[in-house]
Amino acid sequence: MSVLDLVRPDLRDFGGYRSARSERMQGEAWLNANESPWPNPADPTGSLRRYPDPQPQALRERLAARYGCRPGQLLATRGSDEGIDLLVRALCLPGGGAIAITSPTFGMYAVCAKLHGARVVDVPLREEADGYACDFAALAAAVRRASVRLVFLCSPGNPGGSLVPLAEIAGFTREVRGTALVVVDEAYVEFAASPSAITLLAAHDNIAILRTLSKAHALAAARIGCVAADERLVDVLQRCQAPYPLPAPGVAAAMAALDDAACATTDSHVRRVCAERERLRHALCGIPGVRVAASRANFLLVRCVHASAIFDRLLDAGIVVRDVRTHAGLDDALRIGIGTPEQNDRVLAIVRDVVHPGERA
Ligand SMILES: *Cc1c(COP(=O)(O)O)cnc(C)c1O
Repeated sequence: MSVLDLVRPDLRDFGGYRSARSERMQGEAWLNANESPWPNPADPTGSLRRYPDPQPQALRERLAARYGCRPGQLLATRGSDEGIDLLVRALCLPGGGAIAITSPTFGMYAVCAKLHGARVVDVPLREEADGYACDFAALAAAVRRASVRLVFLCSPGNPGGSLVPLAEIAGFTREVRGTALVVVDEAYVEFAASPSAITLLAAHDNIAILRTLSKAHALAAARIGCVAADERLVDVLQRCQAPYPLPAPGVAAAMAALDDAACATTDSHVRRVCAERERLRHALCGIPGVRVAASRANFLLVRCVHASAIFDRLLDAGIVVRDVRTHAGLDDALRIGIGTPEQNDRVLAIVRDVVHPGERA
């Protein structure tokens, strides 16, 4: 039994598209990919003239060093969104497979499943005194009952902000081994000050972790993320990936963002966001009628019967927050990202004023 048994049987020997770039050859006149012999005037150095490397080894090495795994355990992807899509397509038979999600959660898991014709089994998170918890017994039952191939855990959760304890993820991963792949989406783990599920890769082959440069590293437009998984699974996913998934400017930005100096700045920004998150949460919790659970991410889930009025007043002030009231059970909730201290102060003042008009703090 290996993780390859979880891959679609019809894709196990699938070679994928063999691009001109993937054939390892030496030469100085490259006439094999029908590229232009001259650069575009908009690209005087010619750095965009040729198709990019599908999986730049230097990028994989830098991501692996940052995340603590081997380069071969990483597939660089066009954001973690691409990782979600690749996993669904490689493991779920179109029209037949199923994924499990734990609502309220990130919408892309269900979107990718839907586009692929895979069923979505929802095992809602349990709301506890200070945040959300996964119902692992119910998840294990769903995996058995509904032949679920992929279980998407979001940790810290979006929009809930709660961390899923690593020991519980490890136990669950062991329990469903041979039946399902556990996908841990760690888009916000940098803000959690907690070890990554990548540390579980050494002992478990049926786990995949999604990481991204879009949030903590402030590179959302570069579209660089990765899937960390067993090397054999990484290999399968790569064969399902588009021939040239990573635009060269995005890769260049990622390489620069992953050098030591840039990472030190990122780490200090993350610490500031976390400090602001605690300050804002504390202040919001001090407003009677406002509930804010602890968050390990860079946003707060704010609950209040006046959510709708708060949303409108913030918008009038030019502050756009995420209305998450369409999620089941969150009809009084807004997801508010942590901004600069000044922006957070403005949010706080408006929430105070909507909930208790005329009172001053
Ligand atoms: C923002 C977000 C992503 C998307 O990341 P990209 O790398 O930009 O595609 C993935 N998962 C969660 C939970 C997110 O909130």
